[in-house]
Amino acid sequence: MFLQKTIRKRAIVKGIGVHSGEKCSLTFIPAPPNTGVHFVRSDLPGRPSLGVQADFVKATGYATTLGGDVFSVATVEHCLSALSALRIDNLFIELDGPEIPICDGSAKNFLEALHKVGLVEQDQPRKYCYVTQPIYFSEGEKQAYVVPYHGLRLTVTIDFPHPKIGKQKLDIDINDQSFTREIAGARTFGFLKDVEALKARGLALGGSLDNAIVLDEQGIMNPDGLRFDDEFVRHKALDALGDLVTLGMPLMGHVVLHKSGHDVMNKLIKKIIESKDSYKHIELGADLTEEIRLKSHFWS
Ligand SMILES: [Zn+2]
Repeated sequence: MFLQKTIRKRAIVKGIGVHSGEKCSLTFIPAPPNTGVHFVRSDLPGRPSLGVQADFVKATGYATTLGGDVFSVATVEHCLSALSALRIDNLFIELDGPEIPICDGSAKNFLEALHKVGLVEQDQPRKYCYVTQPIYFSEGEKQAYVVPYHGLRLTVTIDFPHPKIGKQKLDIDINDQSFTREIAGARTFGFLKDVEALKARGLALGGSLDNAIVLDEQGIMNPDGLRFDDEFVRHKALDALGDLVTLGMPLMGHVVLHKSGHDVMNKLIKKIIESKDSYKHIELGADLTEEIRLKSHFWS
């Protein structure tokens, strides 16, 4: 039986907000079983909270924003991707302002903070969303679908008409080890012309070569270059894992994404939730075949 997990004790990540450029900090706080993942604003009266759910996703242009009646949180996906890979079920994520620290533009600092405090099992079984039939979503040339798989696997392809990006593909089974090694360090990226346009609108004021890969027409502006030759597609996988947390429980399936972004992921997740005949909520180890039990030890 796989049990729900939270973290052993509080963990803090400090940095600046990518839009405001102001200092901000985030604290991961253990939560009781069956709580789920919630953002909490410690700077607002009554410490309001907001659950991480697909219905609360309200903007999906450059980043995923979660919004409720009282507050919204921008750029949630990098911190959430670490939760997805570590299978953390219950957690409060406390913020002292409207933004999440951008750190280096990857999930590295969040993952390190969580690894440092460690995880703890709780006394309730974890429920998985086990996909039993394919679920498709497409919009023009963007495609996103999930097919049955005994684990969590991602296949991501991108195609950008830029000499340093072009076509890239990543196919990977997701667990703590593979995420840490192959995905967590991949940084967000942007094009110089878009960054300049955002700054002119008072956005991305904290954005710099310290927290994003920036591309001009010909190449990469960061003096140290890339962390991986295909860092771009790896970051897309990181974003997708973060968005998957809005499903509300770990997914057991193979997610295939082509030219997808936050908007398409959000639509795929909503379609999964609606497709009640195409998945089951299961507890691992209780009502599964031996084959699934054997394969699932990779991702407990
Ligand atoms: Zn991202």
